[in-house]
Amino acid sequence: MKVGVVETPGVLKLVEREIPKIKNANDVLVKVKRVGICGSDIHIFHGKNPFAVYPRVWGHEFVGEVVETGTAVKSVKKGDHVVVEPIISCGECYACRQGRGNVCLNLKVFGVHIDGGCAEYVVVPEANAHILPADLPWDEAALIEPFTIGAQACYRGNVQKGDYVLVMGAGTIGLTVAAMAKLYGAIVIVSDLIDDKLAYAKSRGADYTINSGKENIFDRVNEITGGMGANVTVDAVCVKKTFEDAILLTSVAGRVVELSFSETPSEIAPVNIIKKEISVHGSRLQTKRFPVVIDFVKSGKLPLGGFVSKVYPISQMAEAFDYTEKNNASVRKVLISFD
Ligand code: MN
Repeated sequence: MKVGVVETPGVLKLVEREIPKIKNANDVLVKVKRVGICGSDIHIFHGKNPFAVYPRVWGHEFVGEVVETGTAVKSVKKGDHVVVEPIISCGECYACRQGRGNVCLNLKVFGVHIDGGCAEYVVVPEANAHILPADLPWDEAALIEPFTIGAQACYRGNVQKGDYVLVMGAGTIGLTVAAMAKLYGAIVIVSDLIDDKLAYAKSRGADYTINSGKENIFDRVNEITGGMGANVTVDAVCVKKTFEDAILLTSVAGRVVELSFSETPSEIAPVNIIKKEISVHGSRLQTKRFPVVIDFVKSGKLPLGGFVSKVYPISQMAEAFDYTEKNNASVRKVLISFD
């Protein structure tokens, strides 16, 4: 079978490997149909992910059809369409005991710590395979994982109906946060520097948009919220200034959700956090968000059509990476197809 592997940083190759075999009774063999290219895959390609070990089959956003099941598998059967939850946690450490396996001490992420989804076949534990409606197009199914990241940010920020939610950044992740916040009944404000991205956010349901390069974001947020500030601010831009601004733009009793892996320190005076009793939450990967997103998709409340920028056949994997990198400002999601 064909697999896409980052052999060493900077070296991306399509190679032949044996089709993997089911080893555990609760494993399933999935024939992969689509794998999405994420910003983090590009980082792994360039050796900028501190957790990645090489050589590594990349890909954590993948969907496919179950073609074989282990003897103890009960929840899925041959022929089921599934999206793979790409994290494996130990179930025993403090985080796991708190129900937060996404920050497990022994966390393994497909495509990062262990081989991922850019392969014609992948063996995954039954618990990681979530069943999808059989009529959901593969191109849409592959978007479920990115939307779980948006769902996690809303969950961490405890987004409530009627909350003003400010999403900083209208890239792929910012758009998923905005969409999920709308589903929870929030009034959604999206900021970015690029008008085209803001227009797209608006077309997908954002109530207000702010071009923070042309407008004063503090004035605009105050105007929209009647001087209160955003009840939840999600930083999906992830630079020093957006983290600082997020604290200052958030209301009394508000929440800040940080998605950045940046190592650059920010300058926040503690008084800005304590006087409004703001909670600052990290949001990493997701926990228990797959069923949430799948239910919204099933009910028709989360339309996924029109989100994919381009689909490449596996034979053009290198071109797909190249296109994604060169069109960073306009690409929402590029997929690889195994059809
Ligand atoms: Mn991703």
